[in-house]
Amino acid sequence: TDGDRALELHRVRAGYGDVEVLHGVSLAVDEGEVVAVLGANGAGKSTLCAAAAGLVAVTEGEVRLGGVDVTDLPTHRRARQGLVLAPEARGIFPGLTVEDNLTIRLRSGAARQAAKDRFPILGERAHQVAGLLSGGEQQQLALAVALPDPPAVFLADEPTLGLAPLATRTVMEGLAELRDLGTAVVLVEEQAAAGLELADRVALVELGRIGWEGPPAELDLDRLTASYLGED
Ligand code: ATP
Repeated sequence: TDGDRALELHRVRAGYGDVEVLHGVSLAVDEGEVVAVLGANGAGKSTLCAAAAGLVAVTEGEVRLGGVDVTDLPTHRRARQGLVLAPEARGIFPGLTVEDNLTIRLRSGAARQAAKDRFPILGERAHQVAGLLSGGEQQQLALAVALPDPPAVFLADEPTLGLAPLATRTVMEGLAELRDLGTAVVLVEEQAAAGLELADRVALVELGRIGWEGPPAELDLDRLTASYLGED
């Protein structure tokens, strides 16, 4: 039933001012599932995440968390219900240093050390302000604090942006672990290959609509290519 979906977007229309970007997007993610949201630059992937988190206004349709309609709830209330958009919404405190972020979210020194061992950049950048880290670095911080206390929903918007292959692998492994802990994971990727590897299901966003949805094994390359080229 609908109540079982960790996150559900139902015919969501959203955008910026008079410009509608999402033209009726429906997407559901279950507990312990990774859905990769793929699509061309500007297709609306980030807007989809922002609409789920309440960072852009939904003009029509519904957003549900665990079956509960949260369409009219502000971002912090959705966060309290277990929705994290990394790093913008409950992912990190951008005005605090990396160390302070770790201290606030991870109680024991051992947990903080484990986070730094797993994501070495967090040790190297301990005294920098989190909001000034690169996108991929902020994603690592958001993951590090989410893993010991897995949220119901974790939306990762381009989590590997600008990361070297080793850090990319670490992030993908972190997302897989979150999934295994029961979190519903939405992985937004412009690089299709990375997203496909981890995904249980794929959603192709095309000009503000879900153009195709299904398991990665059923996604044919022509379909994917057309989606990225904006052909239908
Ligand atoms: P990208 O990977 O480039 O972020 P995307 O698929 O995530 O692509 P969105 O960022 O959701 O796409 O952008 C979708 C459309 O919304 C684009 O046309 C973009 O110009 C527009 N847009 C995004 N953010 C804003 C904003 N804050 N104000 C106005 N328009 C915006």
